Amino acid sequence: MADKIKQVYAGEILDSRGNPTLEVTVTTEKGIEAKADVPSGASIGSHEALELRDGDIARYGGKGVLKAITNVNTTINEALRGQKVDNLSHLDQRLIDLDGTPDKSRLGANAVTGVSIALARAMAQVNQVPVYQFLNDYFGFKIKDYQMPMPLANIINGGKHADSNLDIQEFLIIPEGIGDFNHRVRALAEVYHALAKVLVNQGYDSDVGDEGGYAPDLSANEEALQLILKAIEMTNYRVGQDIYFGLDAGASTFYDSAEGKYKLDLDKLVLTSEEMIEYYKKWLAVYPFSALEDPLAEDDWPAWKKITDELALTSNKLLIIGDDLFTTSTARLQQGLDQGVANSVLVKPNQIGTLTETINCIKLAQANKYEVVISHRSGETEDSFIADLAVGTGAAYIKTGAPARSDRVAKYNRLIAIEAELNRR
Ligand code: PGA
Ligand code: ZN
Repeated sequence: MADKIKQVYAGEILDSRGNPTLEVTVTTEKGIEAKADVPSGASIGSHEALELRDGDIARYGGKGVLKAITNVNTTINEALRGQKVDNLSHLDQRLIDLDGTPDKSRLGANAVTGVSIALARAMAQVNQVPVYQFLNDYFGFKIKDYQMPMPLANIINGGKHADSNLDIQEFLIIPEGIGDFNHRVRALAEVYHALAKVLVNQGYDSDVGDEGGYAPDLSANEEALQLILKAIEMTNYRVGQDIYFGLDAGASTFYDSAEGKYKLDLDKLVLTSEEMIEYYKKWLAVYPFSALEDPLAEDDWPAWKKITDELALTSNKLLIIGDDLFTTSTARLQQGLDQGVANSVLVKPNQIGTLTETINCIKLAQANKYEVVISHRSGETEDSFIADLAVGTGAAYIKTGAPARSDRVAKYNRLIAIEAELNRR
């Protein structure tokens, strides 16, 4: 007899920034208990689903999530209680219907994401398989040989993720030349620690930002790349063979849409879209980049088209990743596909709401040969679901921060455990 949902409930916990978020628990009649914690962004794309916050300034400065929690404990619980624990897309559709808005603003995307992921975990338990295997089987990915994703690790934090003076949000290293996942993690950690030495030697701070990367005040954005280059050279890894560079500019955060200009305060530059592209091209000529995320603002489609035509087609290695551009939305990704914009999509389940919608976005990307980068948010918890999501959907990449701080390391450690489990099979 199929197991049924006994209760869906949520409580308020803290995320890695000390802000409230939801922990959702699904229990079943046969005694299964599955949980999910909900992450939270700081540089939120304007096309994302809505994260419901209480707005009561007297509690957590307005960031409480009691309304979203009430929605789980009343509306959602009443609708899902007694349902069979066997058809995630069916239950996700009930959540979408219950909400009834285009941006999940009635129930809150935070409520919906937590419930959807907890349901997936419950179904994996019912089937007695790891979560990645449940996702592969249930959503029909037909993966026979699981691949470990390539990490994009943010080791210098700027933008809205740190009070460093850097306009560029994330400086990433990517161990493209290293095969085993646990060796990739080792390389990330060794470069990360070398970078601390480089920073301290030059008299800079080695304290960290929201995603565990260092957050120094520098003399120019490019200096971050020079420091990372020095750090890699201190290790046994070869720049441009073992380890590549990446960045997430988070360009919407320094784009002035009224003026149509990109304002890089640290570099004292105010740039047109074309000049912004030239700015990146200078870096690409010097450093071995293999990924550029959100190099341009979320609605600057003509410039996105231009950068894709100029860079993605001339280099078969460079990922041009849309995050705020696509917001894990099949509609926005389809717009990108139609226009030939970008060649990769960042995937964050809470940008859209349910896991089914998230998987639809992944499948649309894969069907069109766009690379998939599964991603954390800058506000995280110890929940490592995205590790299973990456492996179970065959995503080639994962972005989950520096190899430091438990909220980031939880995902690396889960991936190390998955790799070990696969090697034992
Ligand atoms: P966010 O940042 O979680 O603050 O949106 C992550 C990113 O931009 O990739
Ligand atoms: Zn981003």
